[in-house]
Amino acid sequence: MKTVSSLLDKDWYERYKRISRLNIRSSIYDVTNQCNLRCKGCFFFSSDEHKAAKEENDVSKWELFIENEIKRGVNLAILIGGEPTLYLDRVEAFYKRIPSFCATNGIIKVPRGRFPDLTVGISLWGDEHDEKKLRGKDTFAISSKNYEGDKYTYYLYTITPKQIGKIEKVINKIESIGLKVHMQLLSNDEGVDGFNWTNEGLHDIRQEMDAMLDRYPNTVISSKYYHHVITSGEMMGRKFGWHECPSVTEPIDNRTPSPRRLIHFIRWASDLKTMHRCCTSETRDCSMCKDGAAHMSWVMVNKRDHVRSTTDMQNWIEVYEMFAKLYRFIPW
Ligand code: SF4
Ligand code: SF4
Repeated sequence: MKTVSSLLDKDWYERYKRISRLNIRSSIYDVTNQCNLRCKGCFFFSSDEHKAAKEENDVSKWELFIENEIKRGVNLAILIGGEPTLYLDRVEAFYKRIPSFCATNGIIKVPRGRFPDLTVGISLWGDEHDEKKLRGKDTFAISSKNYEGDKYTYYLYTITPKQIGKIEKVINKIESIGLKVHMQLLSNDEGVDGFNWTNEGLHDIRQEMDAMLDRYPNTVISSKYYHHVITSGEMMGRKFGWHECPSVTEPIDNRTPSPRRLIHFIRWASDLKTMHRCCTSETRDCSMCKDGAAHMSWVMVNKRDHVRSTTDMQNWIEVYEMFAKLYRFIPW
């Protein structure tokens, strides 16, 4: 029988043991229903998730709620919105209690005096032309000034089909300000003309993402297996989608048979009571979903299937390490 240790040499097995100890239990929190942008294709607003619940304004209720989340076993709070930096008191309630990650558009700077080592992921949707078209402004011009050289910040670069052949320019800009970058793909939730993926486009962008990882290994946080899985929507001959997705809110997950999934995962709305369906859009057609975190989690929860060959197991380790780096469970 194949075992993990029989497939790995000493170094890889050490890497495997390091991530096995982490036991990451994440959940996602809508810190607010508001944002200082309105991007075309924003999953939150396009699915009306901002109307799902009235946000809780009493910080002491947030504090109590977070204490209960910790008792529930959560050890990673992923803060999204809306724009979390609009309510730094709520962000602080998490930061003081639990390892936290703050997703932001980077327009408001997280004050480092108050949040010295909060992990920050800045959303970026392409070059200045795409950003202006989809988000109404060149956010990089602002966020890069706010976060240049920041040790705990990376860009979460959502690549659009218009970026094919152009992503190196963006990676270069990020490297030049001393930040890291992770790549995912646009799902085009609002059907903006010209922003849908084709099979050819997905093939080309995979090659380009691989080349970026080869050329900028100290800047790009990624793995080639992740590129394969997210661009093809396939893993081990299986198709990603509703019946495979690991990032569905556990208490309302009634799929049968139940797929392998994130344990105790919940995506909470900002009233601290309502639960959203999954880590992203409530209304997205799962067959069109390109969510990066859902795809990497899909790999992570399916370890057993990768105990098949040395390459499969190494691929699995690299994806897990990538996730652990993005949320600072292991160093970049
Ligand atoms: S910055 Fe983020 S939350 Fe705000 S509209 Fe854009 S994608 Fe949505
Ligand atoms: S939209 Fe994506 S993340 Fe949400 S349930 Fe469907 S496949 Fe999963």
